[in-house]
Amino acid sequence: MAKQPRILAGQTVAVTGAARGIGRATAKALQAQGMKVAIGDVDLQAARQTAEELGGSTIALELDVTDRPSFAAFLDATEQKLGPLDVLVNNAGIMQIGRFVDEDDVTARRMVDINLHGVILGMKLALERMIPRGHGHVVNISSQAGKYGAPGGATYSATKHAVVGLTEAVRGELRLMGADIDLSYVMPFVVNTELGSGLGQARGMTSLEPTDVADAIVEALQMRIIDVWVPKSAKRTNVLGNVLPRSLSEGMARAMKADRVLAGADINRRRDYELRAARSEPGLEPAPEPAQLAASSEE
Ligand code: NAD
Repeated sequence: MAKQPRILAGQTVAVTGAARGIGRATAKALQAQGMKVAIGDVDLQAARQTAEELGGSTIALELDVTDRPSFAAFLDATEQKLGPLDVLVNNAGIMQIGRFVDEDDVTARRMVDINLHGVILGMKLALERMIPRGHGHVVNISSQAGKYGAPGGATYSATKHAVVGLTEAVRGELRLMGADIDLSYVMPFVVNTELGSGLGQARGMTSLEPTDVADAIVEALQMRIIDVWVPKSAKRTNVLGNVLPRSLSEGMARAMKADRVLAGADINRRRDYELRAARSEPGLEPAPEPAQLAASSEE
């Protein structure tokens, strides 16, 4: 018998990094499902503006996903204002690209802190609320870079691979504990957001809109989908890549120019984004201007 979609109306959801981009589109799509939405973002001003634009019961709260007290306060305030947490979407993330050999340590640390440790913290804090209630769903935003090591984004790819492994491992633990909590991870291709600006094109793949990812997240919550490929066809390419001999799968990736999506990015078009991303962890000293940006400003 076909699975019946779950009804999301009336549930409380917290979405991290939802001031803009994929998080914003997700907040909007979940609100349209009748969910009560809390937007958390390190950019409180933008989060407030987004909540105002979305209207309804949506609230905006300050959040730094790298900081446990901040994350706990975000979830506490969400529950106080909207009710017990049913869903957490760990979406906040940054992508600072460039050659691995040129990357400074602060940049690497910041990506690991936000993209991976932020997700670890969010899952721990959500699960300690959900497990005793025997109910809840955590959605972690990974990337196609969570399945493919993308040249030009080595540390980013590492964090996104880690989110896949983390989610799979915690799912196994929950099953062993007999805890009926759902976990999903979402792997979008390039999305038309500030984070995705100036990236190269892969043959046969078109950029997605944030609403494409938001719709996939709604479907994952309704249908309890674990690994969420956006677009869905990316799963076939990945399966094929895994069964082919390495020389063929790497040749296929090169023929599609998948190895140029990050490595071939237009750094000048990414400048504003890269500078914002470099200020995304309040507790970490801002890096000196990343090497590639400094070089591009001298041209
Ligand atoms: P975006 O830059 O448009 O939005 C990210 C939001 O996260 C921003 O509002 C930012 O202020 C917030 N944020 C950053 N650091 C934070 C912190 N420490 N605490 C709280 N909030 C913080 O980016 P996006 O494209 O919407 O990306 C959202 C997620 O989707 C990220 O995890 C990203 O890695 C992933 N993703 C994006 C793409 C793409 O091409 N855009 C593709 C695959 C996966």
